[in-house]
This record gives sequence, structure tokens and C-alpha cells, in this order.
Amino acid sequence: MSNLASCGSVSGLIIEKPSAHSLAWDYDVVITTFNRLSAEWGPRKNSPLMQVHFLRVMLDEGHTLGSSLSLTNKLQMAMSLMASNRWLLTGTPTPNTPHSQLSHLQPMLRFLQEEAYGLNQKSWEAGILRPFEAEMEEGRTRLLHLLHRCLISSRKTDLKTIPPCIKKVAFLNFTEDHARSYNELVVTVRRNILTADWNDPSHVESLLNPKQWKFRSALIRNIRLSCCVAGHIKVTDAGEDIQETMDMLIEKGLDPISEEHALIKYYLQYGGNCLRCKEWCRLPFITPCRHLLCLDCVALNSTKCTFPGCGYSYEMQSPEILTRPENPNPKWPVPKDLIELQPSYKQDDWDPDWQSTSSSKVAYLVQKLKALQEAGRESSWSIDKDTQISVSSVVLRQDCFSVNKAAVEKVIIFSQFLEHIHVIEQQLAFAGIKFAGMYSPMPQINKMKSLATFQHDSTCMALLMDGSAALGLDLSFVTHVFLMEPIWDRSMEEQVISRAHRMGATRPINVETLAMRGTIEEQMLEFLQDTDGCRRVLKEESSKTGREGARLHRSLHDFAESNYLAHLSFVHTGSRA
Ligand SMILES: [Zn+2]
Ligand SMILES: [Zn+2]
Repeated sequence: MSNLASCGSVSGLIIEKPSAHSLAWDYDVVITTFNRLSAEWGPRKNSPLMQVHFLRVMLDEGHTLGSSLSLTNKLQMAMSLMASNRWLLTGTPTPNTPHSQLSHLQPMLRFLQEEAYGLNQKSWEAGILRPFEAEMEEGRTRLLHLLHRCLISSRKTDLKTIPPCIKKVAFLNFTEDHARSYNELVVTVRRNILTADWNDPSHVESLLNPKQWKFRSALIRNIRLSCCVAGHIKVTDAGEDIQETMDMLIEKGLDPISEEHALIKYYLQYGGNCLRCKEWCRLPFITPCRHLLCLDCVALNSTKCTFPGCGYSYEMQSPEILTRPENPNPKWPVPKDLIELQPSYKQDDWDPDWQSTSSSKVAYLVQKLKALQEAGRESSWSIDKDTQISVSSVVLRQDCFSVNKAAVEKVIIFSQFLEHIHVIEQQLAFAGIKFAGMYSPMPQINKMKSLATFQHDSTCMALLMDGSAALGLDLSFVTHVFLMEPIWDRSMEEQVISRAHRMGATRPINVETLAMRGTIEEQMLEFLQDTDGCRRVLKEESSKTGREGARLHRSLHDFAESNYLAHLSFVHTGSRA
């Protein structure tokens, strides 16, 4: 049996700190915290911890040494411990930031007293850090050699004892109302792109223009959110603009007191059915020949009206004439009269409305959870039959549930959107499924309470969480993980799944990603399937266009976002209003 010394105060108890002599002679193991280490550092260097020569120092969660790149007390203290062997354990050696993370390794190498690079900052910078960041092969090779010398990596895939993780994607269909709300955002995007010189990304106001990346990101977030929560765009102050359009039509011969006039005005204000395909459209185009067309139909031909039997030719403007500050290099002829006729709606932000959302995803989730509950109940009963206990069924039932805790299915439900979490909470409560919430904004103490409920209350089936709660938790008793939306950040997805799929898990983990069919979510999943392919396309694109290409898209993420918007399409539920 080892003798343990613990350095630090335990839950308010003041413990007399052992002397260096006592540490060395009376104990085999010293357990302490990073906080204690930091506090022990002082100019006089008289901490008892620094006076003992240890056989081995082991730092758990050792990456915290590198989390700050400056020389912290913690790091100085860790470095000055005397030891024959130094170990450092971490699951995340470098933080997950978009820029270079490599510099965070160096403090760990310093602690390990790695001779070539750990104790020599200059050779680290010149030999590995700078070449690596400049994407030079030698930087990579040296780093690999270094890691071969000092790192033992054991990944989940190397561990044969962890049950498998079974991943699946469920594609779901919108309800009709929800589809309409999604299409409102799609029409805004499509309209913008079409009116910017007919899908020309070099137009400064086009959402496809690289300069619009900030607006594009916000919009993408809304489009993604609208796959989960229905909402509305308020179109305000459109009256004047629509009147301008009506005046132009009157100039061209429309009778201002006709029914047609009233109808066109109404459709421009509130949306209407496309004359060609009969689909409802929130912001339809009106042609100079007075045909109301949806975005799909009007986009079929840039030179003439696509209404059957009409074929009116638009007034085309050639790129040479079109050149102007908004678009210095127009790419193709543009239907001038058609574009000028369209009112330019001023649009407010998109407002999610979770209270009145009927979500296909949550309906699916509830159905799945009920099935799991049912299955759990059946397995409890079958055990009961085998052991042939003959007491009254009420008592029996309670016994089964308390004795047979292993059969209770525990589930993680993950969403990145607070509004979506609200929809899920509302519907779970309505369905009588007990859950605990662990997401931001929520005080840490409440998060801890939720976690305890989920861990210890056998009737609490689900833990509803967001990215703020995904780090470090051991929930290896969980058997199902529902990702309520596709996750762009692979490492975030891995973090969430790793709560359940880890050492200690005894049953296979089922991970299900929920996505709406035909939406941006399906586009995202396709993109994520083939990120390498997309990276290649991005590289080719930037080598083709040279320096301008490098600026064209700030990142793979940005490239993906433009791609989603360029290919965004309406979702049709089949029934026509
Ligand atoms: Zn149409
Ligand atoms: Zn027409």
C-alpha cells in the first residue's frame, strides 16, 4: 500500500503542509493540483516540492502548460521540479484554433526537458515552428522525428476494447409551414444573386462577392437555423419601392384602376403563386410583360420571358456598357428592363419563432426516444420473467427499474442553436420525457446540477447540451447521441461523440445526425463527405487566378459558404397552396 500525501486544501479543511523531509521520507506518492503548483512558485524558491528529487513527475491534462504562451508560474514551477522521469498526459495537445497551434507544444517540451527543442527556444523556432508554419517540408519532418522520440499516441481506434460507434444520417422532410419559412430565406438569397447582374459574383452587392463574407456568414447561420426553427423575415418599407415598380408598369400601359394592377401590387407585397409553375413564392419577379414568375422560372432564361406563349424579349445590356463602380468587370449581357423593374425590398433580420415551430426533427427525436424507452421496459420485464419473482406487479415493476439500471437507455442530444434547444425542451416536456439541460447561457452550478441529475436519476433519460458543455465529460454510460444538425467543425463533432464513445463504454454507441432533405444541411453533409476534394478545387481555383484567387476565398469555410449560397434551392413539400 502506498502512502499518499495530498498538497492543498480539501473542501475547506486546512491541512498542514508537509515539510520537504516528510514528503521525501513518509510518502510514496504526492498528489497536487495545478493551482497549488502555481501558488508554490515564488522568488525564494523554497517550496518543499522543489526540494525533493522525485522518481517520476506526471502531469495530467498537461496541455494546460501550453494554453498560455507566456511564462506562467505554473510552467516555471513544473519545470523546476527535480525528477528522474517526466511524463505528461493529454488528449488535446494543441488547442483548436484556426491559426497555427504548434507554438503551444513548446511549453510541454520544456517541461519534458526535451534537449534539442524543449530546452532551446531558438532551435525550436528556427528548426520547426517557422518552417512548419511556412508549410515547408523540413518543418513537418523534424516535427515528426521529434514526436517519434517523445510521444506515445494511443487513439480510440487503437483500443480494441471500446465498443463500435455506429454513425448514421437521418434525412427528414419539412412540414408545409416550415418549408415555406425556409423558402423565405432561400428566395432572399436567390433574388440577391440574380439581381446582381444575373448571378455575377463580381458585383459588389452579390452575396457571392468575396467582400460580402461577413454578411454571408450571418445569413448562412440563419439558413441553417431555419432548418430547425421556423421564422420570418419582416419586409418593411416596401410600399414606396413597389409603387415605383407599379408606376413603371403604368407607363408601359398598365391600367391603374384595373384588377390586374391591384393583383400585381398585392403579390409584390405579400407573395403569390408563380404563373408558370404555380408554386408559391414570397418575393416573385414581375416581368415587363406583366408576368409574375418565381425565381426558378424567371432564372431559366436571361433574355426572354419564360411564361408559356409569351416569349417577350428583355432589353439586354452588354458588359461594355454595364461597366460601373459596383461591377467593374461584368461577365455577360444582363436583362436591364427586367432587373430595374424589381422593387428593392429592404429586409429586416430574420426572426426565429420557436414557440410556434412544428419541427420534423424534434418529432422524429421524440419518436426515437419513446421507442428506446419501450425497448428498455421490455428488457426489464424479460429479466423479471427469467428470475420468476412472483410478487404484485406494482412492486415488481419498481424493483425491476431500480435493480436493472443497466437497461435504462441514456441519450445525449446536441444542438449548436439556443433557439433549437428551446424547441427541443418544449417538445420533450410535452411528450413527458425527462431530460436535463446543460448549455449556455446557464450558470456553471446549474450545469453541474443538470449533469448530476442525468448521471444519477434513472428516470432522466436525456442530456440536452451545446458546445459549451462538450469538453471533458465522461458519459460512457450513454448509448445514443443525437446531433440535431450537421456540425461543420469536425473536432467539435468528435468532442461530442467522445463524451459517450470512450474507455468505459460497454455497449455500442449509436450516433445519429438529423438533417432536412434538400436544404443547406444536405449540402453541408455532402461537402463534409469530401472536404479533401473541395480543398483541391479551392487550390486549383486560386492557382488559376493567381494572387487574386488567394484573396477570393479567405478559407475553406468561406469557400464552402459561397458554394452553399450559389446552389441553394427551394424545398417543395408537394402540396401547392
Ligand atoms: Zn415558377
Ligand atoms: Zn411574359
